Amino acid sequence: MEILARYGTRSQQERWLLPLLRGEIRSCFAMTEPAVASSDATNLEARVDRIEVGERRGGHVVHGRKWWTSGAMDTRCSLCIFIGRAAPLPANTPPHRRHTMILLPLGSEGVKVMRPLTVFGYDDAPHGHAEVDFNNVYVPAGGVLLGEGRGFEIAQGRLGPGRLHHCMRLIGMGERAIRLMKERAAARVVFGKPIADQGAFQHALAEARITLDSARLLVLRAADALDRRGFKGARGEIAAAKVAAPRAALAVIDQAMQVHGGAGVSGETPLAYLYAGARTLRIADGPDEVHLETLAKVEMRARL
Ligand SMILES: Cc1cc2nc3c(=O)[nH]c(=O)nc-3n(C[C@H](O)[C@H](O)[C@H](O)COP(=O)(O)OP(=O)(O)OC[C@H]3O[C@@H](n4cnc5c(N)ncnc54)[C@H](O)[C@@H]3O)c2cc1C
Repeated sequence: MEILARYGTRSQQERWLLPLLRGEIRSCFAMTEPAVASSDATNLEARVDRIEVGERRGGHVVHGRKWWTSGAMDTRCSLCIFIGRAAPLPANTPPHRRHTMILLPLGSEGVKVMRPLTVFGYDDAPHGHAEVDFNNVYVPAGGVLLGEGRGFEIAQGRLGPGRLHHCMRLIGMGERAIRLMKERAAARVVFGKPIADQGAFQHALAEARITLDSARLLVLRAADALDRRGFKGARGEIAAAKVAAPRAALAVIDQAMQVHGGAGVSGETPLAYLYAGARTLRIADGPDEVHLETLAKVEMRARL
């Protein structure tokens, strides 16, 4: 929705954003490809070819295979925001101006939602994470967002707030884990006294609080920097938060599972599912390594 609100034309917003806001339809974002390392998005091979002749002139043909397209399994999902290599392009176009983002109705001829992927066995139904095949899908004129070759510009603008949103949810997951940990420790008696009264637990709980609140402060700092300086100016803070928040949530959820014993790794509590979700966020929206590189670059520039 954010992409459409920021970069959509009036007619694109009327066609897609309004029904999204009314909750009538859902959307998905198709960037990652099974065949190439997509954390370096310049690798993306799917194509968005401009039609230059005939009555479909000005429209585009989309071709390629995507996966991890979250939301595409949902029957209400009718819009796919697709990014692929633009063509035709002048030979000397720089790598970051070579990809086009286009609005593609998911029901178009040639789109095949192949299968849901699972995360540690969870299918995240109903929205799911799909592998999707796009076989010469025709998109009429007017579908391109912002302009041909400007897909990365949009992706950059979107990923800052999107990443922070993930971070905030991670802090919430960690908070929930701490609550469950405390409830269990208060109720469960081991070797004659509640777990809550055991020194080892008290240290673990205190460490969990320190870990989570340290990450929370980094997230707050990033949100403040984003408000004040925009995405470019807040890149370092956002990168730091995006690395710290999943780490913190995972450490805290792990400790909460430990306190629950066997129940902690079972389906009897939400902890295993929370752990699986938090773990994906060391990869999704950019793996840790990419954010660490970003942070190091910002740090070198700032401190020399
Ligand atoms: C639950 C979930 C939901 C997702 N939802 C979506 C979605 O809706 N739409 C979408 O398009 N994608 C989505 N993704 C995909 C996700 O964004 C990609 O998996 C991610 O960007 C990494 O791309 P890749 O899988 O191709 O890994 P690769 O690019 O193959 O990277 C593999 C590994 O290489 C290492 N690496 C990468 N760069 C560096 C570096 N500079 N230095 C050192 N090591 C490095 C990292 O360890 C990385 O994990 C989702 C993924 C998950 C797990």
